[in-house]
Amino acid sequence: MEKRFAGRPASPGIALGALFPLTIGTGARVASGAAESEAEALRSALYAARADLKGLIERSTGDAAAILEFQVALLEDDVLAEPAFSAIAAGRVADHAWLHAMQQEIAGYELSDDEYFRARAADLYDLRDRVLAHLTGSAIEAAVPPGAIVAAVDLAPSRFLGIDWSCGGALVLTAGSTTSHVAMLARSRGIPAVTGLGVDLAELSGQALVDAHRGMLIVNPGPAARAQFDCDAKADAIARALAAAAAMRPAVTADGTPIRIMLNISDPRELADLDPAICDGIGLVRTEFLFHDRHGLPDEEQQYAVYRRIAEWAQGRPVTIRTLDAGGDKPIPGFTPAAESNPFLGVRGLRLSLARPDVFRTQLRALARAAMHGHVKIMLPMVTQPRELALARSILDAEVGALAAAGIPARRASLGIMIEVPAAAIAADQFDADFFSVGSNDLAQYVAAAGRDIGAVADLADPTQPAMLRLFRHVVGAARARDIDLSLCGDAGGDSRTIPALLATGLRSLSMAPALVGGAKRAVAAIDLRSIPESERWPT
Ligand code: PEP
Ligand code: MG
Repeated sequence: MEKRFAGRPASPGIALGALFPLTIGTGARVASGAAESEAEALRSALYAARADLKGLIERSTGDAAAILEFQVALLEDDVLAEPAFSAIAAGRVADHAWLHAMQQEIAGYELSDDEYFRARAADLYDLRDRVLAHLTGSAIEAAVPPGAIVAAVDLAPSRFLGIDWSCGGALVLTAGSTTSHVAMLARSRGIPAVTGLGVDLAELSGQALVDAHRGMLIVNPGPAARAQFDCDAKADAIARALAAAAAMRPAVTADGTPIRIMLNISDPRELADLDPAICDGIGLVRTEFLFHDRHGLPDEEQQYAVYRRIAEWAQGRPVTIRTLDAGGDKPIPGFTPAAESNPFLGVRGLRLSLARPDVFRTQLRALARAAMHGHVKIMLPMVTQPRELALARSILDAEVGALAAAGIPARRASLGIMIEVPAAAIAADQFDADFFSVGSNDLAQYVAAAGRDIGAVADLADPTQPAMLRLFRHVVGAARARDIDLSLCGDAGGDSRTIPALLATGLRSLSMAPALVGGAKRAVAAIDLRSIPESERWPT
């Protein structure tokens, strides 16, 4: 019988296929009966899990690689498996010992007062299952048939990356949030995904249709649903082809207003096969990927090489590189404070850079040197008060002066700020910045008091709700009054459904993931700004 479930659209697209529910790998295992061989079995499983993760890291970029590196670091710490080895020595079989030890560890993380540790529990679940799968011989991802509709409660990024998506397929999560890492990965790879279906995983079996534009899952679809799918599949294929063609054209509204389309990247490898002509520059380089190396923080030379490569790729177009935005949803183990009660409201972004001037100065020097090779702009995250900008500016000036004194070629790049803290949005006129870029992801969560990583409150953080549109309009006014360049680099900028509302507030520059450029340009072309009622429109 056909059953329909509604969730949240997390990555657009449609798919038809067999559901493949992913549960923890608990295939039966024959115990050896000897403590030494049980310990050896666990050692081999730990080794195999580490090898899996390293293989995945080589195929991953940016945030995904960083998460995997974190898991490798956990696995390489002998403390993690110590209780399991003790239990084996006391006569327990390897898989039970491991499962029990990890349950205890996970419970410790989940009960922590510290949000950071609670969030890390997902990594521990993932490690638990990966090692267990090796112990029981039930490799988790290898079993997923090509093109399947993968169903899970939530999915760790490493498990997503371990699945072969080359034949398509889709992801449906009974829990999960649209701003989670796995949702971000699905979007960047064009895999349709729906989250928050709120159904028991046991109900998800058989053939299914996924309409990730509308956030629908139809299990055992009847003839009418299948006929609708055939129509949607044709429309989807046409839309993809049109988006690919539109990506190469400039973005102009139906009334002739040019819109700047910039790229957001989290790793320079994302630029490998991209023609710079699809964009007007890079609106956001998230530099956190450089700081997840287990061997320590990156030095000036390492950073300079990467920033220079990105600047040269852009062939003279502006490249906005954001200084380290560690903390909140982007913790860096060993660097971000570990004991904050709410890391989203703590020492993150620029606050952390100012608390660690050694790290900040190194990054600014690398950026000033890279500015010799292209149009580099430096952007500060999480700015709250003008004095933070002034302090950052004085540090940048001092480092540029020191480089000049040492005869090292460098340029004082322009210095701008993200507008992502409500205080900065409300008092935007107070900031003496060279440019502004609205971070709608953080701004929405702070305005709505709804965590960006909490699926249950995701609807409240809608970037097009009146409070947000009023703020955008206000920031547009502040920027225009002082002729400050303004862009928007939150996820709302790449969403065809929100673009009309953003342009109506007066925004004229949007920055987004490269895969979204074509669709965004098509959305822009369909908008006639003259049709927006005067009361809702920014006067042009
Ligand atoms: C934002 O907050 O909107 C933003 C672009 O930055 P991030 O998502 O990296 O916090
Ligand atoms: Mg942000």
